[in-house]
Amino acid sequence: MQMRRTGAVLATGAMALGLAACGSGGSYSTVVDKIKGAKEITVGTKWDQPSLGLKKPGAADPEGFDVDVAKAVIAKMAGGENIKITWKESPSSNREALLQNGTVDIIFATYSITEARKPKVTFGGPYVVVHQDTMVRASDSAIAKATDLKDKRICQAQGSNSYKRITDPPPDGKLGLPAKLVGASNYSECVQKLGGNNLDAVTTDNLILAGFAAQEPGKYKLLNDPFTDEKYGIGLKKGDKTTCEAVNKAVAELWADGTMTKLLQQWFGKTDLQLPTSAPPAEGCA
Ligand code: GLU
Repeated sequence: MQMRRTGAVLATGAMALGLAACGSGGSYSTVVDKIKGAKEITVGTKWDQPSLGLKKPGAADPEGFDVDVAKAVIAKMAGGENIKITWKESPSSNREALLQNGTVDIIFATYSITEARKPKVTFGGPYVVVHQDTMVRASDSAIAKATDLKDKRICQAQGSNSYKRITDPPPDGKLGLPAKLVGASNYSECVQKLGGNNLDAVTTDNLILAGFAAQEPGKYKLLNDPFTDEKYGIGLKKGDKTTCEAVNKAVAELWADGTMTKLLQQWFGKTDLQLPTSAPPAEGCA
């Protein structure tokens, strides 16, 4: 009885101090409030994409461009306060659900702003615009440009938009070509299947492909035939406009102070990619 009463008093005290968040989401109405109040945040990234979001065996946290952008955006939003970040793997197939059910507060995971996703997610950004390209085995001379993918075996990473850019028309598709779709749970599995000759090409964002190609030099080649604009958004629970506006302010500052250019160079400077050099136009927070 005594213990129960003490618990209730402690809980009330914590609420009064605005410290009610325990676990992700907590009782804060926006993610900015949670950062400022609880001084913690749960961030979703990829864990299988080299140079973007990769959790190496035995490592405590993932590393890569998206991870560093997340840290920089959160630091700006926190205004100098130290924030505890908990990282959660957010594969393409689960990103919308993880935001909707509050498992993660925010997502930085090669997450293109698409029409199909807009009703489910509020997107901050874009923080960078990249382009879809195609990767084949280094020995393959049959596929030299994106339109050569007609009737070829391409990877369909679950929940990802990239295969649609080949098979569907705009807005979320592009080329509207017939192709044979080979399923995989993520892009690392796609690349394994390409290496094993279980498919002919992996077509997705050039940053993703360059990251995989750099891991196994000489094994694969990028066609360098970019054919889309992929606007990388910062995923937020639908309706959190306050945080969306805060992340957009942070992204603008990170471009203005040179951080974005530095991070792109750090992670992709050794690749042949033409890296973005200026801030993409903000989309507004719908
Ligand atoms: N940017 C594309 C998308 O969001 C492909 C990469 C991914 O699935 O993470 O669908």
